[in-house]
Amino acid sequence: MTFESPLDMRLRAAENVLSSVDEIVTKVSKLHGRKIRCRVGCAMCCVQDVGVTLAEAEYVASFVERLPKAERDSLVSKVHEAAAERMLFTDNIARAKARMPCPFLTEGQTCAVYAARPVACRTYHSLSRNACAKYEDGRRPMLGVLEDLSWKATLMLFEASEGEGTEMSVLLSWIFKGRKGPMPDVVMRG
Ligand code: SF4
Repeated sequence: MTFESPLDMRLRAAENVLSSVDEIVTKVSKLHGRKIRCRVGCAMCCVQDVGVTLAEAEYVASFVERLPKAERDSLVSKVHEAAAERMLFTDNIARAKARMPCPFLTEGQTCAVYAARPVACRTYHSLSRNACAKYEDGRRPMLGVLEDLSWKATLMLFEASEGEGTEMSVLLSWIFKGRKGPMPDVVMRG
């Protein structure tokens, strides 16, 4: 009999939950397609902190670690830079308002880890480009049913992660540095 390690169990949980999220998002998008304002090439939602569970961060890390060396090294270095920038802020509101780009946002405004992106990115379907452009008061212009899905899927992955999670680049930087020291935590905007 083989036993799964806790890491393998979290990766399996992430795979299962993310795949179910994709199925529901596809169905909801078909039903509400006309209301959704997201378009290819628009990345207004990729310039904010991304809250993730440990399982999601490990899923992204495992994707990055399997990339060709040059691509992997470049992304890991961007993650460290993004994490260091975020850790300079002690005020989470000021950090959110700084609109720092996600380290995986490419020059072409696409996602370098699209297949492994976390729940928040999969479920973010905007009802208003203006609200996305402002995004200063913490209100999310999201389709309600997908916001509910996001909370539920995140809760399942929080359980699989024993409650661990924080901002994505900060958590990934810790993982890529070999998990030395306590797991970092930055307060996320509610
Ligand atoms: S992981 Fe991808 S989709 Fe999510 S914020 Fe970063 S670039 Fe955007």
